[in-house]
Amino acid sequence: MIIKHFKYSIEGIVQGVGFRPFVYTMALKYSLKGFVLNDSTGVKISIEGKIEDIENFEKYLNANLPPLARIDKLKKVLSPLENFNSFSIIKSIRSSSKYSLVSPDFAMCNDCLSEMRDKTNRRYNYFFTNCTNCGPRYSIIKTVPYDRPNTSMQAFIMCEECQKEYDNPCDRRYHAQPISCEKCGPTLSLKDMAGNLIATNIDAIKGLANFIKDGYIVAMKGMGGFHLICDASNSETIKNLRDKKNRPSKPFAVMMKSIQDIESTCKLSPSEKSRVISNERPIVLLKTKKNNLSPLIAPFIDRLGVFLAYTPLHVKLFDFLENHIIATSANRAGEPIVTNEDDLRLKLNGIIDYYLDYNREIVNSSDDSVLQVIGTKDLLMRSSRGITPTNIRVKSNEKRKILAVGAHQKNAIAIYMNNQVILSPYIGDLDNIATVEAFHKTLKTFKEFYDFEPDLIVCDKHPLYESTKWAKSQNIPIVQVQHHYAHILSCMFEHEIDEKVLGIAWDGTGYGDDGSIWGGEFFVCDRSEYERVAYFEPFLLLGGDASIKDIRRIALSMILDCEEDKIYNDFLAEFKTSELNLLKQMHKKELNSPKCSAVGRLFDMVAVIARVCDKVSYDGESGLILESLYDEGIEDSYDIYLDGHIVRYKHVIKEMIKDKEARIIASKFINSLVNIVCNISEKYSLKTLLSGGVFQNRTLLENILKRKDNIIFQNKLPINDGSIAIGQLTNILSHTN
Ligand code: ZN
Ligand code: ZN
Ligand code: FE
Repeated sequence: MIIKHFKYSIEGIVQGVGFRPFVYTMALKYSLKGFVLNDSTGVKISIEGKIEDIENFEKYLNANLPPLARIDKLKKVLSPLENFNSFSIIKSIRSSSKYSLVSPDFAMCNDCLSEMRDKTNRRYNYFFTNCTNCGPRYSIIKTVPYDRPNTSMQAFIMCEECQKEYDNPCDRRYHAQPISCEKCGPTLSLKDMAGNLIATNIDAIKGLANFIKDGYIVAMKGMGGFHLICDASNSETIKNLRDKKNRPSKPFAVMMKSIQDIESTCKLSPSEKSRVISNERPIVLLKTKKNNLSPLIAPFIDRLGVFLAYTPLHVKLFDFLENHIIATSANRAGEPIVTNEDDLRLKLNGIIDYYLDYNREIVNSSDDSVLQVIGTKDLLMRSSRGITPTNIRVKSNEKRKILAVGAHQKNAIAIYMNNQVILSPYIGDLDNIATVEAFHKTLKTFKEFYDFEPDLIVCDKHPLYESTKWAKSQNIPIVQVQHHYAHILSCMFEHEIDEKVLGIAWDGTGYGDDGSIWGGEFFVCDRSEYERVAYFEPFLLLGGDASIKDIRRIALSMILDCEEDKIYNDFLAEFKTSELNLLKQMHKKELNSPKCSAVGRLFDMVAVIARVCDKVSYDGESGLILESLYDEGIEDSYDIYLDGHIVRYKHVIKEMIKDKEARIIASKFINSLVNIVCNISEKYSLKTLLSGGVFQNRTLLENILKRKDNIIFQNKLPINDGSIAIGQLTNILSHTN
């Protein structure tokens, strides 16, 4: 009988996910001796026993990982025998260097749900139930390692029964840090806006449900922040919410009780269904069926962001409700999600009537993640709860610690150290103080979690991005990476592409190398350099930012670039004479009117010409409206063509005006964008990569893929500016590979 002793070092998502009890149970199963422990890099295991038992142990380990665990790196060393006499779990070792990974928050698992429904279980109806396979992580952790004293559950002393479960390696709640029960866990309180207590615990949930039914706008503290909630069938309340939040048309997400409810409201493919019920429980954008939801939820568009109740508290709330609810991040427009009662009362005063709070602190905020499904692949639009922070192992000789601060819109940061890239959750648009503060807070949190001080900072080239300004003020070497190149790099990173590619980056805005605004870019590039081989013909953004909201100016600017023609008269007549004269002057003298080649703005122009929208109130609005007008039966397109390096399109406005009907204009326009992507892709014998916010347009992307199914786009990382930080890092890492 041959006895061996192996030591394993395992890195990945292996802490706080039930990994040690899993190893413990396996070791008992195969009669192996030794120990398992968490340290700052991951998990260490010592296994002593018969060689065939060790082999079985390894096979089982690889095939049956706990649901939330992930092994990135496993090192195995043969060691001298130590004659262990049992197998044990050893308490965490603390050390000065911290590389262990922090997991995002996850939705309640089915085991916890069954217990909550089981009258005989001591957690029957318990609204904070969780276990090692589910529940909060990132939102409660103050510092690593992930142990109860380092979380906001520290304030709650476990009762005897919870402690027993916590200490029992064979229990599903072994070392589940947020473990609690109704006896020992956080308390719920329902309050009015003056802070007066109305009810607690189950009565508080019931009370909140009644307020929702009665048409009030309420707030509820969820996992990573407060949601604003109201009845999704009550148009009067929704109109009220829109008025109070000054949010005329941006769609609201709808939370539903069950997958059957979602199926009866939306068209749902098997892939979409699997995403909806996954333990990440993202908001999934689905095409709607006929339904009785209020038309005010997502005006003028044919899709809806839906998600399932994902915490026990949400599940319990639905026990007292019949209708679906609007559940949207509670914040002041553009600001980060509110995480505590004081901010809620300060910032949402006048908007909400009542709120449900609980006395466990949300340490790190997170929003709901948002995605669409294209065929069987994800098209990620916001990565937060359930998805980020995420870490990706990379091959690189780079020894420096690098911080990438991302873009300005949809900011997220990323860090690199020890062959790991870690992407933060979505932070937001850095154009208000509160979001910039959230940016600083995330930087601080990441520095603490990972014991990280950057040797180098990478940022965008835009001199006015808050992230760039911050990077420049740090007295640390910086490298600036062009925005659209960073888009393509992030796609190369995700798909582990090292070779030269054709990268097509389309979005709404980004600082170009010539100081103009880019966003309709075709690059031939690899990970270290790029050539701008084609781009959309620039136009003048009359009055700069004023054009972004008043999109009639975009159409006007393009028309003024064309030869005079009567056909434009009706359109021009819509401007007041004085306004028109002023804008014409601006155009002629190029006053306060930067050059722009962004495809996102072309959608704005088309929406204006098609007369479906002349002011936008949220990012991507015109694209969503045009998409919902798309008619698959229309195969025609406009003659948008490549002329040397320039994509010409302004001449087609005439034809659009003649086409009159919005459905025809939208369809032909989207078809012509499909053509230009496919035609230029065919000119190069390179892989074609797509990135940038414009490709969040599902109709555009699906039609491109119908023609060329080998075109590559991002799936696991956001396709919009949320991945810019990853792209920035990729550029630096390419130089040290
Ligand atoms: Zn669970
Ligand atoms: Zn307890
Ligand atoms: Fe962008």
